[in-house]
Amino acid sequence: MGLVYIDGKFVPKEEAKVSVFDHAFLYGDAVFEGIRAYNGRVFRLEEHIDRLYDSARAIWLEIKIPKKEMMEIVAESCRKNNLKDAYIRLVVTRGVGDLGLDPRKCHGNASIVCIADKIALYPEEFYEKGLKAITAATRRNYGEVLAPQVKSNNYLPNIMAKIEAITAGCLEAICMSREGFVTEGTGDNIFIVKDGTLKTPHPAVGILKGVTRKAIMELAEQEGIPVEETFMNRFDVYTADEIFFTGTAAEVIPVVEVDSRKIGEGVPGPITKKLRSLFMELVKKEGYPI
Ligand code: PMP
Repeated sequence: MGLVYIDGKFVPKEEAKVSVFDHAFLYGDAVFEGIRAYNGRVFRLEEHIDRLYDSARAIWLEIKIPKKEMMEIVAESCRKNNLKDAYIRLVVTRGVGDLGLDPRKCHGNASIVCIADKIALYPEEFYEKGLKAITAATRRNYGEVLAPQVKSNNYLPNIMAKIEAITAGCLEAICMSREGFVTEGTGDNIFIVKDGTLKTPHPAVGILKGVTRKAIMELAEQEGIPVEETFMNRFDVYTADEIFFTGTAAEVIPVVEVDSRKIGEGVPGPITKKLRSLFMELVKKEGYPI
């Protein structure tokens, strides 16, 4: 991996640096996207870019370039690194300011960073046999503090939940809302299968509206699988027939145990396997050409 885009230039990875005075470093004052390219096409790039601009608007951060140009930055980052299959991290920061919080001191000099690389979030075997998860004590941040729909660089609650999972000998955590409803994983959305129906938390619970989540719901509908956006609690998790997480980095990964309780038969279920295989076919077929 060689070149990283920073503010209009491609620089070698070793030289790809942002200032310690950038408010992304000092305060997490930034928004980002995780995007994937498969087979020379960037999957649902427009949706990712729309979400990035919405996240930015929600935090009063003006992105001064048009969406089309941002899409080209992503594609060009793949081209420059000869990547047909890539994980792309696009970050827009508040920019360089002083040591105070006031974003006006950054004079609107937001930085745009785009890194095209590879990712293997979980070892391959877990996609076959499923992973173990816990329900975390750390709650998903709620709308009155920072809307979960905003993909900002404030991932500390997610990281705390991830540490809880690792400490418990698991790979992923399920985060609850303040009211105790299931929201999502630390960097992925969650789906539950119960009696043939595919269920996923309603956006009103407070989730990031995942690009993968949407694709999975569309695929399920095409397959005639009933889909419900609903409110679920720990009971629904423990009594599910199947559970899986979805995300750009995670793709579709089965969950076979939660809080030491076996989910369904304790192996990836048929609907999970079907949707995973349809998703892996879909990502190779559509997307913004690199
Ligand atoms: N929730 C959170 C908190 C995430 O960070 C992600 C990863 N972007 C997702 C869900 C999944 O979203 P997507 O399918 O768009 O990657």
